[in-house]
Amino acid sequence: MRKCLLCEQVFTPDIFFAEIFSLKKYRERKICLHCLKQFRRLTDKKCAICSKMLDKGIICTDCVRWKKIYQGDVLRNHALYRYDATFHDLMVSYKRRGDYAMREILQELCYEYLNKNKYDYYVPVPTSPEHQMRRQFDTISAIYGDILPLTPVLIKKEGSHAQGEKSKEERLKTPQGFLIDKNINIGENIQTGKVLILDDIYTTGRTLYHARDCLKEAFPGMQIESFSICR
Ligand SMILES: [Zn+2]
Ligand SMILES: [Zn+2]
Repeated sequence: MRKCLLCEQVFTPDIFFAEIFSLKKYRERKICLHCLKQFRRLTDKKCAICSKMLDKGIICTDCVRWKKIYQGDVLRNHALYRYDATFHDLMVSYKRRGDYAMREILQELCYEYLNKNKYDYYVPVPTSPEHQMRRQFDTISAIYGDILPLTPVLIKKEGSHAQGEKSKEERLKTPQGFLIDKNINIGENIQTGKVLILDDIYTTGRTLYHARDCLKEAFPGMQIESFSICR
């Protein structure tokens, strides 16, 4: 028995036999089934490039623009959930109020997916130094650091403000805000030839494209994709 991190009701975490008998690390659920169901998964009707939900067509308008800007060299983004009111509330608790325990819910939502799909390197998008100081933790590394081996080669330039406070147009005009940290040893154990950039929410794609541009220098010739829990 345990207490749900969201509604505080006591519940019995379900156990999956397949997980017990395999060597896969077993994670006990942190939220009850009722709360888990409040988060809505993206369906198959989504953009083939960034996973945004679509009513019709194959590629969303954001990706049409990125395709033009980058002459076809688009960034494949994997996402699992819709950014709706339930998710917004969770992110307000986590980021605005700095509730560190909420990272366990975010981990629960993406753990299975991330452990099924393998990459050589997992690079978290860094939090701005100002925000990290205010919350006392780096929001993205705190989510993924417990469930994946991270290679934190990206640094955020000082004075580059968080995207959350900007309008869509302002976000798109944001200049490159990342640098490669030359002190991080990348190592050479290439198996998949793939790198995954990790973020929480994909909004305009501006941040992730900047991260990708920067990482091309650190991982020449490798296939770079991104993951966001929401789209
Ligand atoms: Zn609950
Ligand atoms: Zn798209």
